[in-house]
Amino acid sequence: MITWDKSLDSLFINGKWISADSGRTESVINPATLEKLTDVSWAGRTETEHAIQSASLAFPEWSRKTARERSKILYKTHELLLERVERLSTILTMEQGKPLAEAKGEIRSAANFFLWYAEEANRLYGEWIPSSIPGKRLLVKPEPIGVIAAITPWNFPSSMIARKLAPALAAGCTVILKPAPETPLSAIELVSILTEAGVPDGVVNLVTGDAEEIGSAFMESRDVRLITFTGSTEVGKLLMKGSANTVKKLSLELGGHAPILVFEDANLERAASQTLASKFRNSGQTCICANRVYVHENVKERFANLLHEKISLLKAGNGLEKGIDLGPLINRQSLDKVQSHLKDAIQKGANVLNGGAPLQTGLRGYFYSPTLLTQATKDMKVMREETFGPLLPLQSFTEEADVIHKANDTDYGLAAYLFTDNLSRATRVSEALEYGIVGVNDVFPAVPEAPFGGVKQSGIGKEGGSQGIHEYVNLKYISTVID
Ligand code: ADP
Repeated sequence: MITWDKSLDSLFINGKWISADSGRTESVINPATLEKLTDVSWAGRTETEHAIQSASLAFPEWSRKTARERSKILYKTHELLLERVERLSTILTMEQGKPLAEAKGEIRSAANFFLWYAEEANRLYGEWIPSSIPGKRLLVKPEPIGVIAAITPWNFPSSMIARKLAPALAAGCTVILKPAPETPLSAIELVSILTEAGVPDGVVNLVTGDAEEIGSAFMESRDVRLITFTGSTEVGKLLMKGSANTVKKLSLELGGHAPILVFEDANLERAASQTLASKFRNSGQTCICANRVYVHENVKERFANLLHEKISLLKAGNGLEKGIDLGPLINRQSLDKVQSHLKDAIQKGANVLNGGAPLQTGLRGYFYSPTLLTQATKDMKVMREETFGPLLPLQSFTEEADVIHKANDTDYGLAAYLFTDNLSRATRVSEALEYGIVGVNDVFPAVPEAPFGGVKQSGIGKEGGSQGIHEYVNLKYISTVID
């Protein structure tokens, strides 16, 4: 346990921790127990404008540093994150609810993003183009885009920040970070570590507070050149509309509705374990987690039985305790959404194999029992909308072409998964799926070295990989006539 004896001055502007001008604060709540952890400052437009100004002033010097200098700071951040994994994961679990083992995994993942971009900072190459006109030299030079604003969600309060800040800083950008109001403490810890690692004043700024005021200050600013956002498709669309006037670049990681396709030639044991891991990690509050499973008619009963047995063994509770597989949902609204999707599915003919109700754990938080549904059909909400909770519907299929059509029949296009031991099928189906990420016998595709991102209404741009740093640069083309 970690305790805070006073409220935190959680705005970090130009290298100083300060409170909001209004003196306003908001509580941070442990979602497992509903106890207050501490209070943080609640910023609005004025503080955000100061933070933007601070990032603008810091930009020329930071962007002129050599890649190697920036890389060293990112490498140090990676080391500090790993050294502090116990503290950081405990705080993450306390404010977000996920089991401690998952929180540790998240901190290590955040650290690895800093390591990856410490390395990529040194490999941000340009291009020399052979000219068709004699006496000309044509060069393409990547330059940092400028001041960027990062808006992050509560489901991965540490790694979502790392994915954005590591490439932005590597490229030479300066940043204003707005974390989710539910999970500001992980953001505060990370910003402190960046400062300790040597990030100069003004290069990283933090504003916790009113989403709409902070968001509109970002959107209306001429200095903010890019908004990088992870969150709902609805807010992503607002950011796109609001950024039109200043023609900002946007990098958007939005919602998903991931299908899992289980073919009859799959290793069913593996498919069941992985489906379970994908759906119930973070209690189903993950944008790439399984939302709907299509299982071949011939194996549907065996697969459902395997899942049923495995789900029966899952234990929910306070993530700080040993042996806990599922933490609470983030708030009451989330629980209500799971309930309403379940009710709708039952009304439309689904059969409940496991769970199906809120869970009594003796804690005050919003726990929901891991729930398995069979006989799901496409008209059910759970088969079309993001539930963001531990509800897993199964629907059977017989034809490959038909299941591909079903999988693609959505406005989302983030991640899709398939289980098969047939190489031709794996290749054919993964190429036919209209998704930014496809996992073949793999539900954990997110790694720092690969490009993560959706298509359709799941987003624009990539995080991770050599591609991820390109979000944060402009390509300047220089054409020179030589005498
Ligand atoms: P969720 O419903 O999962 O919380 P949101 O998209 O609402 O997803 O939130 C993701 C992030 O976007 C959070 O940091 C939240 O505070 C922020 N956010 C929500 N509404 C706005 C808005 N109108 N402008 C800017 N940021 C917003």
